Amino acid sequence: VSSPSGEPTPQTEFALIDWIRRRAPGSSSVVLGIGDDCAMLRTRPGCEILATTDMLMDGRHFRLQRDGPEAVGYKALAVNLSDIAAMAGIPLAALVSVALPHEGAAPIAQGILAGMKPLAERFDVALAGGDTNAWDGPLVVCLTLLGEPTPPGPVRRSGACLGDSILVTGPLGGSLRGRHLRPEPRLREAQALQRAANIHAMIDLSDGLASDLDHILVESGGLGATLEEESIPIHPDAIAMAEDGRTPLDHALRDGEDFELCLTVAPAVAERVLREPLEGVRLYRVGEIIATSGLWLRSVQGAVSRITDGGFDHLRSAE
Ligand code: ADP
Ligand code: MG
Repeated sequence: VSSPSGEPTPQTEFALIDWIRRRAPGSSSVVLGIGDDCAMLRTRPGCEILATTDMLMDGRHFRLQRDGPEAVGYKALAVNLSDIAAMAGIPLAALVSVALPHEGAAPIAQGILAGMKPLAERFDVALAGGDTNAWDGPLVVCLTLLGEPTPPGPVRRSGACLGDSILVTGPLGGSLRGRHLRPEPRLREAQALQRAANIHAMIDLSDGLASDLDHILVESGGLGATLEEESIPIHPDAIAMAEDGRTPLDHALRDGEDFELCLTVAPAVAERVLREPLEGVRLYRVGEIIATSGLWLRSVQGAVSRITDGGFDHLRSAE
């Protein structure tokens, strides 16, 4: 497929975002632009703001009839908090835009706020603005979250180093069984890790470990990673979902919406934080960063195979 200019049309979500990124207008105040979990703006020296946005659509990220508006409100804020956590930032304020279905518009909006409020209070986030629309289409909620980085600065996807250990903050896979509606943003965990360790690279797992770890590898200059099959923490939901014929490991690698953090640290640092756990922080070492590009899986028997195709792709997946 070609565009009118003869240029090939991007076929994946990642390729499309890359296409946009190469053409995006910039400015001197944008210190980190497209390509990480949050953008960072600097209004003047020492004054930095993190910004992130995520849109949720009925039928894709939730089902209004089944889940109710409170679940939508909770999820809309939680997934954005997760992106602030991925930079080891602190959230400040949210802007919430809604396209409400005409039927039941006001109660839906009220339900969204009710679902969002306890989470906003827990993490001291203000609702500072938004936009309200109604139409004949399904519910769409778009939340923009602003925050601030913490010293020594935002943790980017691009800082992974050869030999780093790869850690995740919780068991993975099968979130569609219900966890995808109630993700726990790992903000406190990220803060505790940032204080205790030099985190080289970090991302939150929204599209699946295989796909999101690949973003770290690409942004870190084309490094690779070996994952140890027996070390990947598999959620009971991934085991329950494996009745569909895919293995629990496959679910753990490729299912989206775990919203755990994936980070890389020097091996000695990994050993220390695994030996002396930080309060309230679960950590699992799943593999290491290697020089050969691509994502590899070492089986229990020691055989290494390539992990092909990542996780969730919005351009490829039909509902
Ligand atoms: P995340 O899963 O952390 O929300 P995404 O994979 O959605 O991140 O996006 C990756 C990067 O691309 C982010 O920096 C995001 O801000 C940016 N991005 C995504 N879609 C667009 C778009 N339509 N225009 C500009 N930037 C975009
Ligand atoms: Mg993210």
